[in-house]
Amino acid sequence: QDPFPAPSRLRVITIANQKGGVGKTTSAVNLGVALALYGLRTLVIDLDPQGNTSTALGVEHTVGTPSVYDTLVGDSPLSAVTHATTASPLLTCVPATIDLAGAEIELVSVVAREYRLRRAIEAYVHSLPEERRPQYVLIDCPPSLGLLTLNALVAGDEVLIPIQCEYYALEGLGQLLNNIDLVRAHLNPGIAVRTILLTMYDGRTKLADQVAEEVRNHFGDLVLHAVIPRNVRVSEAPGYGQSVLTYDPGSRGSTSYVEAARELAERGAALPPLEPGKAPAG
Ligand code: ADP
Ligand code: MG
Repeated sequence: QDPFPAPSRLRVITIANQKGGVGKTTSAVNLGVALALYGLRTLVIDLDPQGNTSTALGVEHTVGTPSVYDTLVGDSPLSAVTHATTASPLLTCVPATIDLAGAEIELVSVVAREYRLRRAIEAYVHSLPEERRPQYVLIDCPPSLGLLTLNALVAGDEVLIPIQCEYYALEGLGQLLNNIDLVRAHLNPGIAVRTILLTMYDGRTKLADQVAEEVRNHFGDLVLHAVIPRNVRVSEAPGYGQSVLTYDPGSRGSTSYVEAARELAERGAALPPLEPGKAPAG
């Protein structure tokens, strides 16, 4: 298989939706693995205290494991909390431990608390020789709009929103979009929603088609052509500490995530370089 095209610059993609269970974690894991398996250096940052992303990437996240908490609340550089993954030598992961649950509150008194993750990513990228710098950073957000998600929106230069093809799919999205507008106005002028990914599509139901059509009417070209079907292999894989791509490469869940990642990469190759001074990280 041909490798994916390299992005014209580092892409820091924040995967956000304050609704739980829409496929944020599953998408962070499987897009991350797909990008790496197709030749792109990728770092996945787990920002959810549950640590499901870490689990699926085979990265330990018991209390005491160097994790994103140590970077956000402590002063550990990202290099000290970045772990190898079992999925691919090109894929690394910053895990989340349960300590992160307290971070929303602990961060309140920290100076420049909204910029913690952004600064850490910038320092990390600059500390590496160019041939080892990640080309993609994917940030998996928790299901809330607190300080952790705020850190991710300030750190990213684009947002990917997974939308579940289910009832109430668009409910609450206005609040997220509002937050992104506020962050753009006050904290991170570069941030914008660049990608919508339809997840858990069940082709047997009319509802899934209706939701998909509504989302496409609303978001137009931001919506990837690739749609992730509801597929039991996708939900089984994390139980084996794996992505669906490594667990069952021939499954529809796997091939659809490869297709979604390919589209993401093709769009990234066509992105104009950032204006000097506006580069998010690197
Ligand atoms: P979030 O991170 O937004 O809370 P998850 O990615 O954890 O959502 O997904 C919620 C649940 O749905 C998980 O149990 C996951 O395994 C399952 N799931 C996600 N995507 C699919 C899919 N395409 N097919 C079947 N199950 C899925
Ligand atoms: Mg999650």
